[in-house]
Amino acid sequence: MRFLPDAAGRVRVPGKGVASEPPVPADPAPHRFLSTRRHTIGPDSCFICGRPIPEGSPQRTREHVFPKWLLRQLGLAESTLTSINRQTIGYYQLTVPCCRTCNGVDFSAIEKRVQVAFSAGLDAVRRLDRRDLFLWLGKIYYGVVYAESLRRADVRDPASPPLVPEEHLESIRFHHFLLQAASGAVQ
Ligand SMILES: [Zn+2]
Repeated sequence: MRFLPDAAGRVRVPGKGVASEPPVPADPAPHRFLSTRRHTIGPDSCFICGRPIPEGSPQRTREHVFPKWLLRQLGLAESTLTSINRQTIGYYQLTVPCCRTCNGVDFSAIEKRVQVAFSAGLDAVRRLDRRDLFLWLGKIYYGVVYAESLRRADVRDPASPPLVPEEHLESIRFHHFLLQAASGAVQ
C-alpha cells in the first residue's frame, strides 16, 4: 500500500482513502522521495528505505536495533533477550541492514535529541517532541521484528522457516510507511 506523492514527491497521510501504487522510476530519484522507497525485506536491503545494499556496497551499514549508548546507559551491553523460539541473543548482537543515509543522516538527528533527553532525565524525555519519540521507538520496534525475520527458527538449518514470517512484516506495512517520515518523504 502506498499513497501518491505530490509534485515534490512527498506524501501526506490522508485520513481516509488509499491511492493506487505510483510507478517506480527506473532511475531512482533522491533519497527523500517516497517513490524510490520500498517495503523490501531481506539481508541485503535497507530495513527503512528498502534500497539494495549488498555486501561491499559503500551504502551498507549494520544498525544496532537497540542503540549502543542506550545499552551502556542501562547496563544492558552484556545482557540478552529471548526470541520467540526461546533462543537467546545479546541486545548488542541484534542488528539490521541499514543504508548510510537512513542510518547516518535521516535518523541521526532524532537519535541525538533522544539521547540528550535520556541523559538529562525523565523531565527532558517527557518534553521530547512526540514525532521524535514515535520515530525513535517505532524504528526500534520495527528493527526487532525485521531482525527476527532474518533469523531462522532452527539456527542449524538454514532452510528452516524464518522466526518471523514475511506475512507479519506485511501486516505492519503501514507502520513501516510512517517511519519514512524521518527522511521527509512522509509528512
Ligand atoms: Zn535506507
